[in-house]
Amino acid sequence: MLIYNTLTKKKEEFKPINPPNVTMYVCGPTIYDYFHIGNGRTFVMSDIIRRYLEYKKYDVKFVMNLTDVDDKIIKKANEENVSTSEVTARYEAAFMKDIKRFKMKPADVYPKATEHMKEIEEVIEKLEEKGIAYNVDGNVFYDIGKFDGYGKLSGKNIDDLEVGARVEINMEKQNPLDFSVWKKSKEGEPNWESKWGNGRPGWHIECSAMSMKHLGETIDIHAGGNDLIFPHHENEIAQSEAATGKEFARYWMHFGFLNIDKQKMSKSLGNFFTARDILDKYPAEALRLLFVQSHYRSPLNFSKELIESAQKGTEKLNNLGRVLNDGIKKVGGIPIEFDFNKFKSLFSATMDDDFNTSQAAAVIFDFVREVNKTIAENENLNSEFYRKAKDFMRSTAETVLGIIHFNDLEEKDTSKDDGWIIEQIELRSKAKEEKNWQLADEIRNGLAEKGIILEDSKSGTTYKKK
Ligand SMILES: [Zn+2]
Repeated sequence: MLIYNTLTKKKEEFKPINPPNVTMYVCGPTIYDYFHIGNGRTFVMSDIIRRYLEYKKYDVKFVMNLTDVDDKIIKKANEENVSTSEVTARYEAAFMKDIKRFKMKPADVYPKATEHMKEIEEVIEKLEEKGIAYNVDGNVFYDIGKFDGYGKLSGKNIDDLEVGARVEINMEKQNPLDFSVWKKSKEGEPNWESKWGNGRPGWHIECSAMSMKHLGETIDIHAGGNDLIFPHHENEIAQSEAATGKEFARYWMHFGFLNIDKQKMSKSLGNFFTARDILDKYPAEALRLLFVQSHYRSPLNFSKELIESAQKGTEKLNNLGRVLNDGIKKVGGIPIEFDFNKFKSLFSATMDDDFNTSQAAAVIFDFVREVNKTIAENENLNSEFYRKAKDFMRSTAETVLGIIHFNDLEEKDTSKDDGWIIEQIELRSKAKEEKNWQLADEIRNGLAEKGIILEDSKSGTTYKKK
């Protein structure tokens, strides 16, 4: 199995430290507002990666942090004249609700900075003992000049960065690029006691401390949005590796940006959507399919047309899902040879190649077409065929990609379902185009037996129910 590692800038064979265990940390939201659809993509794709590792029989421990100390939270609390904990409690609840609507599997732990002050302080202390962090009157900074590997993740060069950073004058810092690990408390801000006086942690330190606490000093996979590569992840590496002398994470995975109608999403352009705005309008499966249809590292374009087309795609899956739900209840019927293993291997092969979900989705849709065709060609299949087809869809489309949920499909008489009839008609038109008259006739007769009469005309085929 290959994973593209941002650190080495190439696809590498995935070799977890302690198989079958896999440790995975994903940088989660700052809980001061509803998360936007671009964050939604990051969360859903990290969910799919975790689920695929589980499909491969790895035992994954999945941690996603919630940032609950931050300037943006303080600003919001001040604007609303409430406490920061009131703000974070509200948006933590909203976050949990939204990821549930996305049908994400819950993380094993959602650690929060405010609950890890002791661990955060311990990492800073280690850095201070090693002479890498320095305290200036209650503000503690990380001296990036003391860490040889600084810039190795982002590929940034310290000299180039310094030129840009000189504009920002901070008399306390020895080097303008040094960053805060502990901030001295200011009037009206939440603060915690520490050996450097009252204050609060810088943003980056929480992920170092919480990843080490919950997953160990070296973990398998650390992931997040592209925008976190620098400075957040670069600083996490600097802090953690300087403190422990060990590698922090083996594989660094980053998710591409989401654009709206090919434009960068921003509040000022009026094209900013929260995940809940979109989930109010479209089913989670359609959104997940839209995400799945782009490679996780590529930019993803989001538009009304594309989400509607994804929704049509999920309707195809659901139509077959209902047919399979019914078919497994059949008694009697004839067995048939069908190469389920071919589709299983294709699915794994695409996912093993750095989680090529768009190809994996193509395999699923090929499977759906093939199964629909088999059902149309063979009037009286036994339940075993339906059961095997459902097993394949469950283990791949449902359990890994989350683009269909069998239990959510309402019980319906599929023979009266218009979506299903239209698919049969499309299948028949295709058969006629291919001059497969036998198949075309079989479809027509199959429908006639169910009381559905086709009428062909120059403008196409319509149908009547008897
Ligand atoms: Zn982080």
